[in-house]
Amino acid sequence: MAAEIHPKPQTRTPVLLSKIEASQEVVNTAVIIPKEDGVISVSEDRTIRIWLKRDSGQYWPSVYHTMPAPCTCMSFNPETRRLSVGMDSGEVSEFILSEDYNKMTPAQSYQAHQGRVTVVLFVLEMEWVLSTGQDKNFTWHCSESGQRLGGYRTTSWVSGLQFDVETRHAFVGDHSGQVTILKLEQDSCSLVTTFKGHTGSVTALCWDPVQRVLFSGSSDHSIIMWDIGGGKGTAIELQGHNEKVQGLCYAPHTRQLISCSCDGGIVIWNMDVTRQETPEWLDSDSCQKCEQPFFWNFKQMWDSKRIGLRQHHCRKCGQAVCGKCSSKRSTIPLMGFEFEVRVCDSCHESITDEERAPTATFHDSKHSIIHMHFEPTRGWLLTSGPDKVIKLWDMTPVVS
Ligand SMILES: [Zn+2]
Ligand SMILES: [Zn+2]
Repeated sequence: MAAEIHPKPQTRTPVLLSKIEASQEVVNTAVIIPKEDGVISVSEDRTIRIWLKRDSGQYWPSVYHTMPAPCTCMSFNPETRRLSVGMDSGEVSEFILSEDYNKMTPAQSYQAHQGRVTVVLFVLEMEWVLSTGQDKNFTWHCSESGQRLGGYRTTSWVSGLQFDVETRHAFVGDHSGQVTILKLEQDSCSLVTTFKGHTGSVTALCWDPVQRVLFSGSSDHSIIMWDIGGGKGTAIELQGHNEKVQGLCYAPHTRQLISCSCDGGIVIWNMDVTRQETPEWLDSDSCQKCEQPFFWNFKQMWDSKRIGLRQHHCRKCGQAVCGKCSSKRSTIPLMGFEFEVRVCDSCHESITDEERAPTATFHDSKHSIIHMHFEPTRGWLLTSGPDKVIKLWDMTPVVS
């Protein structure tokens, strides 16, 4: 007997497990502690808190530590239980957490920046603490000695930072919308290249060291997947958010990308499909379908005594077309267009229903998200927002 195929029901959604609400101000960064029912949060209210789940099912702080300045970012390394916290004062403070997460011992502190620290990233393999600040500096310090090793001046302040341990490349995403790739040595660095693809600031970066793919999220609502390992310079756009993208996480075992935006949207992208690059938009003085002139082509308008038309572009073939020749809309999921976009009439006919099948699922977290963290071993997601609430989600219904 042939095996019965059960299509996945459309009702699969992330399951809200817990809400943690006790911070006086916004939680800027929070992480789920792997293998532990615990969360570490740093907040604008100057506190570092370690929340452990109690028998009541509620999360209560086992550590509540007040810092001299608002805590803006952090990096937690579960193997060494090392916590690096960046502050509004430009200082980076490091702590070692006890095995039971009931205690936190200060390790060292150093003035890494002149202004607010925007991202901090601890790299165990190198014993480096990378950080960026509103002073437009990218620096790295030795996590053992606290000594400054090197720095690089960025064009704008940085909101996304990732590091590839194998090749020692740092990916730096900034407010001008560009991603800078730097090759780091012990005490110096060199500029490799810059990626320019976003029309808004880069708000989040995510590096998958296995596929060697970099994802960048932006305030322009888009995500770009930069295929660095492919060696062909492919950049694939993912359009599935209606608002500023705020966080990106990659689930390597299922090859899914999780993204969130400030309107509370969570999108889960299937990256196990062959995606296509969007075409370059072609320039033409007349519609490339019906040959009617566009309104700036006065000569042809005069010669043929026709009124100029507005130029549009088909998102699938990139041709310059008039409104009449591109009256239909379609999703093109394999080009990253999960929402309907303008296509020319011939492309509309050529797109099959199969090609229109979505490659992403869309969910509502019901709070504005400014930060998220995915813990792949249990498939849990943490979201935090300006509502000062941390939400914990079981993502296994949708990330599997
Ligand atoms: Zn036309
Ligand atoms: Zn077309």
